[in-house]
Amino acid sequence: MTIPQDPVLCIDLHCHSTASDGALTPTELVVRAAEKTVTHLALTDHDTVRGFAEAQSAAKANGIVLISGIELSCLWRSHTIHIVGLDFDIDNTDFLAALEQQNRNRWARAAMIAERLSKLAVPDLLERATAESGGDVPGRPHFAKVMVEAGVVKNVAQAFKRYLGSGKAGDVKAYWPELQEVVQWINSAGGLAVLAHPRKYQLTATKLRDLTADFRRAGGQAIEVSTSGQSSGDLGFLAELCVRERMLASQGSDFHFPGAPWCELGRIMKMPDGLEPVWHHFRQVPGVGAPV
Ligand code: MN
Ligand code: MN
Ligand code: MN
Repeated sequence: MTIPQDPVLCIDLHCHSTASDGALTPTELVVRAAEKTVTHLALTDHDTVRGFAEAQSAAKANGIVLISGIELSCLWRSHTIHIVGLDFDIDNTDFLAALEQQNRNRWARAAMIAERLSKLAVPDLLERATAESGGDVPGRPHFAKVMVEAGVVKNVAQAFKRYLGSGKAGDVKAYWPELQEVVQWINSAGGLAVLAHPRKYQLTATKLRDLTADFRRAGGQAIEVSTSGQSSGDLGFLAELCVRERMLASQGSDFHFPGAPWCELGRIMKMPDGLEPVWHHFRQVPGVGAPV
């Protein structure tokens, strides 16, 4: 009798495709992940799951286990925070309806910005800004680029100074739901909520602890302890936070495009020992359960 060996796992639970702001199509992304020896991948596009079906076919063809994923923007005490959802039911109708609503809100904001800037008489401003963002909902930087091209301002900085910056006509606040709300969407669809890249919000240690505690009280389960572009000090700090707040630990590269050696699929600093991996709690994913 042979004793089965533990397979070598390479788990990446945070990355983006062309379904949001990534450079690779879902298929290209999965193929690259396979090349980088990733065994388990979650595609976590911003506020959409529309890349999932394509990624799933590619994952099957390339021997990768795909986990349902998303990265949702939300508000916590007026800070924009990113929450990754993992292992949820991809067909959950309430979840999909919430995403639809979110998408409508984002388009409404873009239309409002264009409307407020209509006196600039830039023809097809909204359409051109949309093209600038690759067909997705344009944000203020996309409007700024079009305004530069149209010659109504000299550069992006001037576009913000005169028209898009704080208090100017085109300064329409982004609509994001509250933290509690998006955590509830994920949990109600059977998924696990992860506080993404906690060091990126530039919060003080005290505020980050407050955020984590609020997140846990809202039903959040995990912290992204290991992600690209972190120091080993960050890793240690987040591991401690994870233990102190009794959270599960997640990891992901946050890959967006090839050619950035510091951010590559599957290339993630090993998490410190003593943490409980979030993937031990996935319901529908073979091969990553807790050791018995
Ligand atoms: Mn992004
Ligand atoms: Mn993010
Ligand atoms: Mn991301």
